[in-house]
Amino acid sequence: MDSYEVIIIGGGPAGLTAALYTSRAGLKSLLIERGIFGGQMVNARLVENYPGFPQGIAGLDLGLLMHEQAIKYGVETSTADVTSVISGKPHRVITTEHSLEAKAIIIAAGSQYQRLDVSGEGQFLGRGVSYCATCDGPLFRGEQVAVIGGGDTAVSEALELSQYAQKVYLVHRRDQLRASKVLQQRVLAEPKIEFVWNTVVDEIVGDQMVKALRLRNVKTRQLSTLEVAGVFVAVGLLPNSKPFANVLKISETGHVIADEVLATSIPGIFAAGDIRRNSPRQIAGAVGDGATAALAAFRYLRG
Ligand code: NAP
Repeated sequence: MDSYEVIIIGGGPAGLTAALYTSRAGLKSLLIERGIFGGQMVNARLVENYPGFPQGIAGLDLGLLMHEQAIKYGVETSTADVTSVISGKPHRVITTEHSLEAKAIIIAAGSQYQRLDVSGEGQFLGRGVSYCATCDGPLFRGEQVAVIGGGDTAVSEALELSQYAQKVYLVHRRDQLRASKVLQQRVLAEPKIEFVWNTVVDEIVGDQMVKALRLRNVKTRQLSTLEVAGVFVAVGLLPNSKPFANVLKISETGHVIADEVLATSIPGIFAAGDIRRNSPRQIAGAVGDGATAALAAFRYLRG
């Protein structure tokens, strides 16, 4: 069984930063990612709030740069899905590909898109239902589309879609956006975007492709139909904490509970980035977490 001083689970900004720090510190490190290195930021067309890039930077490019910097110092990488962690001395990490040993583990497994959980969402996935405007927006050139949600993601998606679509409806369950002020100002000024306030989706309907949304106004209870070719769901994120739930203390929302140096309830296991409770869920925050967790792991290993 392969053995490491540190195994880092997740190759987003938190995991890549942790890997940079642990490998530079000379710890034998393995970084495991199940998909694309860079995590959720690879879907961001332009990241404008990561320091050092005053003109903004494409999320994909930032991910590639972070990856290049992390592997420069010798971290091993592996593509696999971690299915469980077994605490002990050493700890064990079980993946779809292998069973590994680690004296310390940094969990930076991030989060995934929250689903709306309405009829038609699964049926029309990839046939009009999407969770990523950067990925699928160009498919809806000249069409009418809807974005569901009122946070930073929904507003960013609506702005991006307004470049392709003929019209973008932003359907939000309240009459106030949760998104940051700067994004709110931009979205309110975009003539192609129309707000549908106090409204939820009851059903996504179509035949081969999405044709319409059945909507319900939560104040008036009035039902309506909105004809759209695409619906972009942006109603938040769910932490990827399932593989760790039987080992670590997890909050009611599914986030890993960690202290100020990001140590979890098990000695030698740390949590960084979106997956931990009270994370600011920003790239800059994830990077800070990665460094903090790596330094804490180093101190744990070297006393
Ligand atoms: P979020 O901030 O949790 O917002 C989710 C939105 O979806 C909220 O407006 C919420 O409504 C709505 N919602 C939740 N469940 C719903 C449901 N079942 N039906 C209808 N609407 C529902 O999630 P996010 O926008 O994905 O952002 C996640 C984190 O990433 C945040 O911390 C955000 O700041 C960060 N982020 C930052 C940027 C940036 O800085 N540029 C870009 C993207 C994301 P309520 O408002 O009523 O709760």
